Amino acid sequence: MTYVVTDNCIKCKYMDCVEVCPVDCFYEGDNMLVIHPDECIDCGVCEPECPAEAIKPDTEPALDKWLKLNAEYAPQWPNITIKRDAPADAEEHDGEPEKFEKYFSADPGQGDG
Ligand code: SF4
Ligand code: SF4
Repeated sequence: MTYVVTDNCIKCKYMDCVEVCPVDCFYEGDNMLVIHPDECIDCGVCEPECPAEAIKPDTEPALDKWLKLNAEYAPQWPNITIKRDAPADAEEHDGEPEKFEKYFSADPGQGDG
């Protein structure tokens, strides 16, 4: 199994998760993060750190879409281990429905570099 990042990370990206991961397996897209499923060691440390409750274990039902998305983009996006400031409008998007349909971007983020 692995942990996966889901819808509510989009446009929130608080990044509290990246500093606690012992294996540095978060990758940064333009407006969300993903977890590399082959690198995640299922420690679960990141799940309670996410203020947006966007991180879930893949044992929860109906996460197929997100598992696929994490697996697809983690190898394409840069690694992120150092927390930056969240976007200024993060709070107003927290909990907004259908963020994927409205805002998902396949573009890479800036990563640690
Ligand atoms: S803490 Fe949660 S919302 Fe923030 S970047 Fe990590 S997964 Fe996304
Ligand atoms: S469950 Fe552990 S290894 Fe997997 S992403 Fe979260 S902190 Fe990293």
